[in-house]
Amino acid sequence: QTAPARRPIRELPDELISQIAAGEVVERPASVVRELVDNALDAGARQITLRLLAGGVRLISVEDDGIGIPHDELPVALKRHATSKIQSLNDLESVGTMGFRGEALAAIASVSEMAVLSRPEGQATAFMLDARTGEIKPAARATGTTVEVKELFFSTPARRKFLKSDATELAHCVESVRRHALARPDVGFAIWHEGKLVEQWRACHGPEAHDRRLADVLGEDFLSQSVAVHYNVGPVRVSGRAGVPDAARSRADHQFCYVNGRYVRDKVLTHAARSAYEDILHGHRQPIYALTVEIDPTRVDVNVHPTKIEVRFRESREVHQAVRYAVENALAAPRAALAAAAAE
Ligand code: ADP
Ligand code: MG
Repeated sequence: QTAPARRPIRELPDELISQIAAGEVVERPASVVRELVDNALDAGARQITLRLLAGGVRLISVEDDGIGIPHDELPVALKRHATSKIQSLNDLESVGTMGFRGEALAAIASVSEMAVLSRPEGQATAFMLDARTGEIKPAARATGTTVEVKELFFSTPARRKFLKSDATELAHCVESVRRHALARPDVGFAIWHEGKLVEQWRACHGPEAHDRRLADVLGEDFLSQSVAVHYNVGPVRVSGRAGVPDAARSRADHQFCYVNGRYVRDKVLTHAARSAYEDILHGHRQPIYALTVEIDPTRVDVNVHPTKIEVRFRESREVHQAVRYAVENALAAPRAALAAAAAE
């Protein structure tokens, strides 16, 4: 056996570093959609419009009416680890925005042809930055930002090969917006594909806003077949809706969990929700629910996964209990009412 040839240690070129990082953040068009919609929401957008071509592979354009990016900051926005959202470890520990890693735009730019067009309030005109050439030109636009991502993975054919059909990629993009839309009924969303409007959810306000958005996004059935969840246990607040046992499905495709407004996939939460159905749902039937956990940001770490879809709770037992009780209580209430009515 021969020893491997010794090669000198070298720092990787910037472009390659970004492409490696992009591997973690940008898996498919829907990942780009998630990052760009996160940014639009962080910018305070009231209306977000998506335009897609070929399931997002040829074009993803996300347009918002948020605070915009000043013309002189456009090049910085595309740099790795450049963010306006945190400045210190302290900020990181109580982060209230969807983004904070300053990675998304750099990562997406490294695996696509990207352009950012933006105009903040008070700037006389918009400017457009072409990420490939670095060129900045004046352009026309109202206050807000449009990010255009073309030819995703054109330079990384290995990634491109993993993409599914346009219809499948589109479905994933829509699902990604749906997750945002459920958390933010106060924001309007529209999704266009190949020039056709595929989904539109109008902004709703007031106490019924969440329920109305749920019905718009998941259908009236979701609302009529679920009960309201409201529960405060110590520092944990659980709200949302939990489906009655009869509404259970064969697939777990109507289970949405949010932590402080962020969509997450978390074993503690899904296990807790499932355990609330322990005695009333049998076999492999999957309950439907949309649950929001609000908790002091210092009690949850959102910086465990590059896509931030996973979180770590400091006191996971406390959160588990809160969610389980919250759902159990909500489900018990209508049964108690039915039993009382029957006894009369
Ligand atoms: P992060 O969201 O983690 O800060 P990004 O790479 O996604 O990192 O974005 C970098 C920066 O660009 C953001 O911090 C923000 O200041 C700015 N930015 C990106 N998208 C928008 C947008 N739609 N509206 C306003 N500013 C934006
Ligand atoms: Mg971001």
